[in-house]
Amino acid sequence: MTSRIRKIALEEHFTAPGFERYSKVFTKLMDSASQAQLAARLADFDELRLAEMDRAGIDISVLSQTGPSVQAEPDQAQAIRYAQENNDFLARQIQRHPDRLAGFASLPMHAPRAAADELERAVNDLGFKGALVNGHTNGVYYDDPAYDAFWDRMQALDVPLYLHPTDPSPIPSAYAGHPELAGAVWGWGVETGTHALRLLFGGVFDRFPRLKLILGHMGEGLPMLRWRFDSRFAVYSHGIRLERRPSEYFGRNIVITTSGVCSPAALQCAIDEMGAEAVMFSVDYPYESTAIAADFIEQAPVSEDVRQLVCHGNAERLLKLR
Ligand code: ZN
Repeated sequence: MTSRIRKIALEEHFTAPGFERYSKVFTKLMDSASQAQLAARLADFDELRLAEMDRAGIDISVLSQTGPSVQAEPDQAQAIRYAQENNDFLARQIQRHPDRLAGFASLPMHAPRAAADELERAVNDLGFKGALVNGHTNGVYYDDPAYDAFWDRMQALDVPLYLHPTDPSPIPSAYAGHPELAGAVWGWGVETGTHALRLLFGGVFDRFPRLKLILGHMGEGLPMLRWRFDSRFAVYSHGIRLERRPSEYFGRNIVITTSGVCSPAALQCAIDEMGAEAVMFSVDYPYESTAIAADFIEQAPVSEDVRQLVCHGNAERLLKLR
């Protein structure tokens, strides 16, 4: 380790053997040299990954299968089996570097009870810190009441769910002729922010008030609009009754990471809107630069107390790390 500030990173990806079958939907958009480099970095749990963590002062990386993982699997039984295989594979990698690596489970959200069972197995038997799910499953969103059984188990296990971007299904006509807007540039953030708001306005956080949902990419833009959610929901409530104002679920139930948004101004906005205890450092390895992310958080114009919370203190508390 260098003398840099201790960091824990939460949106750090790998791939298990065979899971390229899902991620090729977006890797095929890259040139072959980039694809090869990405594949090597996703499959590595040793020299490449640990050296990059060392250079950036990242003490612990919480690893997750790169998207869309089993969320793109059409067959429910296969999804259940592949999620288990993925989680067992990840557990074996973590065992080789238990001080440096931790895990978020892949879950077969096709079947809420099977997903809850796999989460429980991953947390209790494999020592995972929660789960990362890549958005909807075949167009189903998790505010559906069928998922209350899943949320109930997640709350009881007291672990967070990282809601990671995916493509909307189907792709909205607003993106027609603009493939650059449909993915990481814009569309993934809109899709993921919308899914989080479905959970909020669907009352999931009222039914399960201790749930923690993690959003990446500086909260997928939501912190900036928090005031407007209250203002306009007061006028256009459509008969929906929530126990709190929409803004109050931010920080309380929705927490965020800095993955892929290395902007000091955006960081300050997120901290001002949500509180310093709701914002956590992350990189989005290997899609983003670890060095840029680490330099950004070390140089951001925040107090040292806040920097320590964002770099590691909040993650330690949320994930019950040392
Ligand atoms: Zn990511």
